[in-house]
Amino acid sequence: MNILVINCGSSSLKYQLIDMDSKNVLAKGLCERIGIEGSKLTHEPTGKDKLVVNQPMKDHQVAVDMVIKALLDAKQGVIKNISEISAVGHRVLHGSKYYSDPVIVNEDVKKVIKDCFDLGPLHNPANLTGINACEAVMPGIPQVAVFDTAFHQTMPEKAFLYAIPYEYYEKYNIRKYGFHGTSHSYVSKKTLEISGLDPKDSKLIIAHLGNGASISAVQNGKCVDTSMGLTPLEGLIMGTRSGDIDPAVLQYIAHKEGQTIDELLNMLNKKSGMLGMSGVSSDFRDVKKAEDEGNHRAKVANEAFDYRVAKYIGAYVAAMNGVDAITFTAGVGENDGLKRAQICAYLGYLGVKLTEDQISIRGKEALISAPNSKVKVYVIPTNEELSIAQQTLALVH
Ligand code: ADP
Repeated sequence: MNILVINCGSSSLKYQLIDMDSKNVLAKGLCERIGIEGSKLTHEPTGKDKLVVNQPMKDHQVAVDMVIKALLDAKQGVIKNISEISAVGHRVLHGSKYYSDPVIVNEDVKKVIKDCFDLGPLHNPANLTGINACEAVMPGIPQVAVFDTAFHQTMPEKAFLYAIPYEYYEKYNIRKYGFHGTSHSYVSKKTLEISGLDPKDSKLIIAHLGNGASISAVQNGKCVDTSMGLTPLEGLIMGTRSGDIDPAVLQYIAHKEGQTIDELLNMLNKKSGMLGMSGVSSDFRDVKKAEDEGNHRAKVANEAFDYRVAKYIGAYVAAMNGVDAITFTAGVGENDGLKRAQICAYLGYLGVKLTEDQISIRGKEALISAPNSKVKVYVIPTNEELSIAQQTLALVH
């Protein structure tokens, strides 16, 4: 049984076709610059040559059509007929309080995704377009929505309520939701599996450090706190997002520069974080290179990133009254041994000690704490697509 996983961003579409019997990825790919000049599809069929198609994609419908065409391609395709796709799993950012568990898409589900456009303005509209586009080319094939907020639904009120008038929670469901749920769920389960910890008596901290970054506290297999909030803007410093900030900063800049709240939110989402602090790039590799070349702002951006992660780890140790294991995942967490070492340098008080050779661990599952470390530290590559496919399969099987 093959499941197609679709992850639509505002101008991108990532996909994987997974054979669920073998768990093998048959093909994966990316449509970039949808709706912008220079659109491009990169299709990577396993064991075959890569296919790159430079062709305008005015919207996600065109992108989905191109993906299906590539999957069916006589040379670089991996299936002969569209009926070989049994179901489609869509990553959906926000379902507010209405949906958190994966659900087969119907008109009600689509309405909720639409009602949440203002909670996830960059993602929810793209997610819905992706669903509609797949329905159009694959009528009758079940479409499943897997919500990014799902794993965090177990947070207690003390963790998810903001200290603002309660009426806003009652009227508009304003609360912390948390994101990257599929990743935190997948990686925390893997951590339990490989550590041999008792799932019913365990305290984990999962640090998903990528372009988007979030961290969660997982006690006895359930999320008890996470750093992202109503939207994916809160918490850690990210590639282009500020993370935590005093809201009064917005009022101050608004008054000084005559900017609207929408312009300011755009600044916090797209021009801040590593990019804004360093002035160099949102890509951690570029910022590190600039730091190595003597760029002071790049150095401070890197230090601030590590410091923020370490502060959250400290907070979550307090929240759970201890920690058994800390796991690093996503682009930076999986690949950047120096960053892991710099973050863990703050954690001596917990008895965290890393091995010397962890520095060279890249993109593979590994225990990176020394035998005498009081807390186990792991690198576990995340696999959101496989997790979405598994949750999709569970619903349609
Ligand atoms: P997202 O899925 O949120 O777009 P990723 O998890 O793919 O992000 O992470 C992307 C980030 O990972 C980039 O900023 C990139 O610099 C960083 N990254 C990838 N490989 C490495 C590496 N070898 N060393 C340091 N950073 C890396």
